[in-house]
Amino acid sequence: KRTITRLPEWLKTPIPSAGSNPNFAKIKADLRGLNLHTVCEEARCPNIGECWGGSNKAAATATIMLMGDTCTRGCRFCSVKTSRAPAPLDPHEPENTAEALARWGLGYVVLTSVDRDDLADGGAHHFAETIRRIKQKKPTLLVEALTGDFAGDLDMVKVVAESGLDVYAHNVETVENLTPYVRDRRATFRQSLKVLEHVKAVRGKKGIITKTSIMLGLGEQEEELWEALRELRKVDVDIVTFGQYMRPTKRHLKVEKYVTPDEFELWRQRALDMGFLYCASGPLVRSSYKAGEVFIENVLR
Ligand code: SF4
Ligand code: SF4
Repeated sequence: KRTITRLPEWLKTPIPSAGSNPNFAKIKADLRGLNLHTVCEEARCPNIGECWGGSNKAAATATIMLMGDTCTRGCRFCSVKTSRAPAPLDPHEPENTAEALARWGLGYVVLTSVDRDDLADGGAHHFAETIRRIKQKKPTLLVEALTGDFAGDLDMVKVVAESGLDVYAHNVETVENLTPYVRDRRATFRQSLKVLEHVKAVRGKKGIITKTSIMLGLGEQEEELWEALRELRKVDVDIVTFGQYMRPTKRHLKVEKYVTPDEFELWRQRALDMGFLYCASGPLVRSSYKAGEVFIENVLR
């Protein structure tokens, strides 16, 4: 039996392929044998052609998942496997990841992970060690870490913030009112704001770029979204991204609304007017969307 999915036109995208894009083809070929697991490929991200293959090779961006594929939390929008006791960390992962990234042809890497509430430090030292080794081996590679909230342990946020990364991202995911329904109960909007605030406290307001991402289409009201943006500006978050929430399976939260490309554009303008340095906003935008290009064009210029 065929399932009929009624997606609006703007969400139907062609599957990316090497096609006429030489960067994409080269980056994909170079990945073979490096034993790196990219979120880009594993999540079949529709942006892979743009992120891996943009016209500027120095901006080529990919997202790597650290600390395994099993999360201790269970957010209601996320399809990652959950367990109270995921497999232990691989102590060689920081070195192997750094080695592989140094050989791969990227300009910008986003390191992310599942949440590891089972570990005393939430995996902060593992994250930091990976970043330090990357920077030792390839100082020109720009590094973004997209971390969880370390259960509110700001000392662990500091461990990552001081490891030499260029961008610290932590996603609030949705507006404050919807947070208890959307994210795992251990996550709160206020705790996430504190994470983002602490990064700036550690590195200085101009010392690092902070970034967050909000999914639209979960039932958020316009005023709630304004309020979320005001709170994020209060703690000096530099970059915000908006993308459409897509339901991974029937067991996950329903999509309340398919937000139109015009509405995404309106929110992009509003975010810029509020003083965000940059805003990526569109139905298919993910927090790491063309992050290398964004950094080079908006931060390094
Ligand atoms: Fe990879 Fe993120 Fe770009 Fe998707 S948006 S291709 S996951 S870097
Ligand atoms: Fe998914 Fe992250 Fe939530 Fe874990 S903490 S369930 S990986 S969104």
